[in-house]
Amino acid sequence: MAVEIIVDREKCIGCGKCYDVCPKGPLIWKKDEDGKYYAYSVEYCHNCKFCAGRCPTNAIQVLVKKNEK
Ligand code: SF4
Ligand code: SF4
Repeated sequence: MAVEIIVDREKCIGCGKCYDVCPKGPLIWKKDEDGKYYAYSVEYCHNCKFCAGRCPTNAIQVLVKKNEK
């Protein structure tokens, strides 16, 4: 599944809940030098949206790319 994960860096408070709740957290999520999280290896994502549901500031969008194989 081709998924795109967009994190609004302005909203991210670096709580790490996306990493904690994601079944593939250590594979997908990384923290940048500012302590903000981003989806690094999005190919492991299976679109469960746990991360988006848990994010306290609604910073995460999980989008399925429709026109890709
Ligand atoms: S759950 Fe949301 S606010 Fe917390 S680190 Fe992840 S993206 Fe940032
Ligand atoms: S949608 Fe699910 S698998 Fe994908 S990054 Fe979020 S919690 Fe992880």
